[in-house]
Amino acid sequence: MANKTQSNLPGAVAAKGFTGNWSRRRWLQCAMTSGMGTAALWALPEVRALAEQVRDFVEGPPVPDVPPVQLSEHVWMVYAKDGFPTAENQGLMANVVFVLTPVGVVVLDSGCSLQVGQMAIRMIKKTTSKPVVAVFNSHYHGDHWLGNHAFAAEYGKDLPIYALPHTIEQIKGVEGNMWRSMMERWTNQATVGTQVVAPNRPTEHGKTYPFGDVTLKVHHYGRAHTPSDLCVQVVQDKLTYVADIAMDNRIANIDDGSYVGTFKYYQALQQATGEQLWVPGHGRASKGLLKAYGDFMAGIYEPCLKAVEKGDSIDVAKAAVLSDPRVAGRAKTMDGFDSNIGKYISLAYLEAEKLAF
Ligand SMILES: [Zn+2]
Repeated sequence: MANKTQSNLPGAVAAKGFTGNWSRRRWLQCAMTSGMGTAALWALPEVRALAEQVRDFVEGPPVPDVPPVQLSEHVWMVYAKDGFPTAENQGLMANVVFVLTPVGVVVLDSGCSLQVGQMAIRMIKKTTSKPVVAVFNSHYHGDHWLGNHAFAAEYGKDLPIYALPHTIEQIKGVEGNMWRSMMERWTNQATVGTQVVAPNRPTEHGKTYPFGDVTLKVHHYGRAHTPSDLCVQVVQDKLTYVADIAMDNRIANIDDGSYVGTFKYYQALQQATGEQLWVPGHGRASKGLLKAYGDFMAGIYEPCLKAVEKGDSIDVAKAAVLSDPRVAGRAKTMDGFDSNIGKYISLAYLEAEKLAF
């Protein structure tokens, strides 16, 4: 039922049975109009309790179901068709992958919000009656782990959530809250109610996790998309979840990453795993994913390196990148190309410069 409190909330937000106490609210109004500063107000336990009550009861609306698709014998994916968050897609911009094992479900990246995580849980429950027994977070960008909140709420705070130590540090630090609030802003508050739930189990390169007769192996070969990108191989299925080190049809954020590191990472990962079905965090899985995205990245980096070696300016490098067939061939169809390519050419040029001198 709509009441006065709810009608003041942003459009996308639905209040879940908020029944605040009017005398308390009137008291708050009086305090506010009497000229008390925000800091002074916040110091009052009464105000803090009310703020917490509101936060507990206000949640963005549920995300509509996306029926999962089966990728291999044990692996399924809740596919995000969009590459970037909007009010319309409620933040559903990254895939949620899950592995059905004899002992329960293992989730590879938990989604972009509490609501996306809740939708993924509904989809998992349609696929199996077994509970979720573990979650892996590939890296610290919030579209891959903000859904942890839903899984911890449903399966308990002790549900193992694995990530590399650097990823855990970032999520517990500034990145965690920054991603939570940015996601709210990008989605016009549709993800409100999502809390930061950091991974609680550090993992490291080379570790294997048996779940009955299904074995998961984790890989990390240095900086690629971020300094701590975890890839998870589902050994029996010849399938590896690579998250954001390669994308299908979206240009990847490389602000915290490295071109040269990405090429090295691909090589080491392919050497360790052999032919795989590569599953990205954004877009569709394919056996040719690393080759295709690697070619695109090389089409950006190599002309920049050449320009740096010849002493050419960044503008010359930009022109060379944009006319490189590996880049030009994808410009029209790649999500985020126009808005990001300039910045990513600059980053490639800077990285080439750093390595050249
Ligand atoms: Zn990312």
